[in-house]
This record gives sequence, C-alpha cells and structure tokens, in this order.
Amino acid sequence: MIPYDQLFKVNLPYQANFEQAFRDFLGKGWYIMGEGLKQFESEFANYHGSKNAIGVANGLDALILAIKVLHLPVGSEIIVPSNTYIASILAIIHAGHTPVLVEPNIHTYNIDPVLIEAAITPATKAILVVHLYGKCCDMDAINQIAQKHGLAVIEDCAQAHDARYKGRLAGTLGDLSGFSFYPSKNLGALGDAGAILTNQDAYATALRSMRNYGSHQKYQNDQVGFNSRLDELQAIFLSVKLPFLASITTHKRSLAKLYLAHLKSDFILPVVEEGYEDVYHIFNIRHPRRDALKAYLLENGVGTEIHYPIAPNHQKALAPWLEGVSFPISEEIHATTLSLPCSSCHEPDNIYRVIELMNAF
Ligand SMILES: *Cc1c(COP(=O)(O)O)cnc(C)c1O
Repeated sequence: MIPYDQLFKVNLPYQANFEQAFRDFLGKGWYIMGEGLKQFESEFANYHGSKNAIGVANGLDALILAIKVLHLPVGSEIIVPSNTYIASILAIIHAGHTPVLVEPNIHTYNIDPVLIEAAITPATKAILVVHLYGKCCDMDAINQIAQKHGLAVIEDCAQAHDARYKGRLAGTLGDLSGFSFYPSKNLGALGDAGAILTNQDAYATALRSMRNYGSHQKYQNDQVGFNSRLDELQAIFLSVKLPFLASITTHKRSLAKLYLAHLKSDFILPVVEEGYEDVYHIFNIRHPRRDALKAYLLENGVGTEIHYPIAPNHQKALAPWLEGVSFPISEEIHATTLSLPCSSCHEPDNIYRVIELMNAF
C-alpha cells in the first residue's frame, strides 16, 4: 500500500530531537509563552527576513487576528478565492466582515487578478490571497490593484511554507500573512499551531496583546482579546523541524518532478512557470473521470485525496453569504481534481509505481 500520507513516518527523522526537546521542556516547568515560543518566533521571522512573527493557536486564528488587527469598518468586503479551503472564508466572517468570492485561474488554481478588479466595490477593504497547493499567487498584479484601490493584502500561507515568488518567500508579499502548522502541512507541528508574519511593528504589538486576552501586562486588559497562544511545547517541536524545512521542500519538489516528467498527457498537470518556486504542499492533477481514477488507484493500493470535494459555495455553513451564486471555474476544479502521494514519507520508487498505474488507466 502507498498511503496518501503517513505522519508517523514524516516525523520519525526528528524523534530523538523531539524527545530531547521534551525533556528540556519538562525540566523547565514553564508551559505557556516561555522561552521556546520566543525562540521559535524569532527563528521563523528570521527565516523569512520578516520583522515580526507572532505565534498563535492555529492557522484559522492567524487569519482571523490578521484581519481584526486592521480594524476595518464593520461590514467591510474582503476578496477571497472561490476555491480555497473553507478556513480562509470563515476567517473573514469571524472577523465580522463579508467574504466576496472571486474565481481562480483554471491553470494556476490561484485567484485571478483580472477578476479581482471587477469585484471591487466602495466597501472592499482587503484582499485575502491564498497560495493554494503551495504555489504563490501573481502578487505583483495583486499588489498593484491593492495599491490603486487602497486595499490591505493578507496572505493565507497555510499551504505555502518556503514557496517563492520572484525570489521572495510567501509570507513576505503582503501586509500580513497567516501560517498553519497543522501536522500535515509542509512545516507541521505535533498538534495545532499557527503564526502571523508582519513587517509592521504596530500590528505586531497589537497582535501580541490580542492573542493573550488583550493584555501586554498581566491582569491589565486594554482590548477585548482572545486566548490564541501558540502552545510552548508545539513551539519547541517547531524549532526542531524548522532547520529541515528546506530539505522537506527539496524532497517534495523532487517527487513532483517525477510526476511532471512521466505522467501521460491525459492528466492535466500543475503548471510550472518562470518566477514561481512551488512547494507542492498538494500535488494535484485533473481528469474528467476523477472518481473512477481514484477508485482504480485505491484498488491498486494507492491512497489519494481530493482537495476539495465540495466547493465553498455549496457548503451549507456558507449559504447565508453565497446562496444562489455560481462559480463555474471553481466547480470544474472541485469536480476533476485529485491529489497524489507527494510527502516526505514517500520515496521515488513509490512515485514511479503511482505513475505506472496512472499511465495504464
Ligand atoms: C490548513 C489551512 C488553514 C487552516 O489551518 P488550521 O491550522 O487548520 O486552522 C487555512 N487555510 C488553508 C488554505 C489551509 O490549507
């Protein structure tokens, strides 16, 4: 069996380091917002050449807080891609604003800058871009539109650790960015965790307070804050893994390259473009008989996933915002996309086997 992913195996190389880090943690007896969190925040900021990293509880909270710290007028509209994971859209709603869905480009699966401009109204205050599957959005075009209309730009980097656009890392291409370290992400913790990056110190100061009950000083609460701290233990585990992010990226890229070189042309492959260094958080292909292909691969011992089976505009939870609107490009992607094994737990042999089976489909 070639499973889609196997997190035990993904984390096996770091086990001894995790155990040592855990023993140190036990010895210190400091469980929340300790030295481990400070250290990871500083390492994560340095990795990106960003001035500030703020650890939070998870990726959804990272996005909610990044939006809230902008203090946009109540009911502002925020543009978001129509084919994203639901968390990006939920973040806008939880922050008290209105999501305005914009279709992706059918080749890149990322929000189409041409369509963004048509969706802007006087209420539009921000664009939440999502670097889906580990490919950056066309940020020059998006930032140009944002500048022209005075909009903030937030990046959802949950699938884009280490991805680059014109040489620059995802997470440094807008005003603020939100990361998830959910265990299956390219940089995954051993539980829930997230972070925000920003070069603006005023946002960073406000966010450090917001994630901790609106308090800078114990028992002095200046704003209506949250409890959304990045757990100390997860922070020290993330510090163990961060130095290996580059090798995780290299490994995933080398597997993706095999698919790109050897899959037959019946399958629509991810595009490879000049100026984009993709990290293949998800390696997806598209095929008109996707469900039959998925069943065939499973019969032959290959696990696959669908990211995602239901388009956001068909989600019951989002009906009050999206009732009756249609998103044909997004729906086409949802109906035909299939995610193939492409994890740090896989070896080239596994990928050659998947390719062989697929080319015989
Ligand atoms: C995983 C993910 C999130 C949410 O992250 P959590 O840590 O699970 O809250 C947000 N956006 C995208 C695109 C994701 O893939």
